[in-house]
Amino acid sequence: METAIALVSGGLDSVVALAKGLEIYDVKLMLTFHYGQRAWPQELKASQAVASHYAISQRVIHLPWLAELLPKALKPKQSAFPQSELLEDSSLLGLPSSHNIDPAYTETAKVWVPNRNGVFLNIGAAIAEAYSAKIILFGANVDEAQGFPDNTQEYRDYVNQSLSYSTLVNVQVETPVGELTKAEIIQEGVRLGVPLEKIWSCYEGSEIQCGVCPSCKLLKTALASCDKPVSIAFGND
Ligand SMILES: [Zn+2]
Repeated sequence: METAIALVSGGLDSVVALAKGLEIYDVKLMLTFHYGQRAWPQELKASQAVASHYAISQRVIHLPWLAELLPKALKPKQSAFPQSELLEDSSLLGLPSSHNIDPAYTETAKVWVPNRNGVFLNIGAAIAEAYSAKIILFGANVDEAQGFPDNTQEYRDYVNQSLSYSTLVNVQVETPVGELTKAEIIQEGVRLGVPLEKIWSCYEGSEIQCGVCPSCKLLKTALASCDKPVSIAFGND
């Protein structure tokens, strides 16, 4: 069985990507990134619950410099970091038009973190190579790809091309839910017995998922289209 590592935030996509990856890979390690996001305490709790559920070691990677670059929407309300100049300028918040971003997703531009997935995947590749793991499991999916060019299959393929030069063991990124919508990811999660009640997909760090942030909205819409009831609670229900 090929060895893999998984990038797991504790949200729906990365957790179901991990569960699907476990069907075919020996997943040695889960990486969880702490970059000053407001939801960190909840993401940590969710990802720890997932690591414990699947009995996989977890390593938390702290990226304090990335915390300085966060948009307001993701920062803790009492942030010690100054707002970055790049994201103060709202004209720079738009995503590149060359990637055909769905206009309905312009709201997600407000939660854009500069090169987040590029940074995560390259850190993951360095750690994978050191662990002699050739596969990185990554939770990109169809719904996120409409708003985020770094969730597309095209992006994954370019990263893999780049990693074939920057790693000696040819580490490759796999996106087990890359062709699925959120609703299909939930159905896969149910089929695989994923502890969906433990996930955290919300940008906020409240006790319960807020139900109104862009990530919660996508999740709620997907849940509404599911045949079976899934126990994911939201604050405004
Ligand atoms: Zn939310």
